[in-house]
Amino acid sequence: MLHEMGPYHPECPERLSAIGDRLIAAGLDPYLLHYTAPAVTREQVARVHSAAYIDEIENAVPESGLHYLDPDTALNPHSLVAAKHAAGAVTLAVDLVMAGECKTAFCAVRPPGHHAERRRAMGFCLYNNIAVGAAHALAHHGLARVAVIDFDVHHGNGTEDIFAGDARVLMASTFQHPLYPYSGTENVAANMVNIPLAAGSGSDAFRDAVREHWIPALDRHRPEIIYVSAGFDAHREDPLAGLKLTESDYAWVTRELVAVANRHGKGRIVSTLEGGYALSALGRSATEHIRELLAA
Ligand SMILES: [Zn+2]
Repeated sequence: MLHEMGPYHPECPERLSAIGDRLIAAGLDPYLLHYTAPAVTREQVARVHSAAYIDEIENAVPESGLHYLDPDTALNPHSLVAAKHAAGAVTLAVDLVMAGECKTAFCAVRPPGHHAERRRAMGFCLYNNIAVGAAHALAHHGLARVAVIDFDVHHGNGTEDIFAGDARVLMASTFQHPLYPYSGTENVAANMVNIPLAAGSGSDAFRDAVREHWIPALDRHRPEIIYVSAGFDAHREDPLAGLKLTESDYAWVTRELVAVANRHGKGRIVSTLEGGYALSALGRSATEHIRELLAA
């Protein structure tokens, strides 16, 4: 909540309150187990980011004000602490799910992560939280096959940069194209299932992509755990993009992923917040996603 990038930045602390408030209003909150995210360790981050990059952002934290890493991404004095706990949330979630304490987990974290590349911060992202989590399952828990699903409206270029060519990791995504960061359609590696959607696409195009491309690829890969880069900015009310999903699409895709996880991965799903900038739509969408994870 202390990480903020200026008064008009869409990636704002209120995003987390919007989700928390809606979970309470929907009556789901009493059924959730809440955990406090630990800080990630340098060793855990170094599985997916270069040592030079880790040092670079450690040294860039300002004593006051903002330090810009790119035109959209800034550090305030609290940002790196937030980033460490955001990535740490995903590693804790992996540990809980692998230990069987939970079947599914949702990490309500900021900053998001899927644009952060191995050597570069960008697009509101510092550490690639989901990549840190996926690498933790591979290195620490000894899993052989994981999947990363990304339904954020923006392509997860950072996750692709980190895992392209790593046959242990299947990444399947949908994203609006063309749109920031303009990646995902060229030089795609064999382990990437990227489905670009034209501006204006809605429920039908999204569900077709999931049924025709994601599910068959997931069934071939048989992931032992599924990660979700849960960005809710493909919602029709979102101001940053032009897809037209609704909360019912997020509920539907979550049920589809639960079914895949039950077939191949003991039901294990670790989901983490990425984008979503219309506060009411974000709260409603995340709540429907979490409702289905709870029911899994
Ligand atoms: Zn996004």
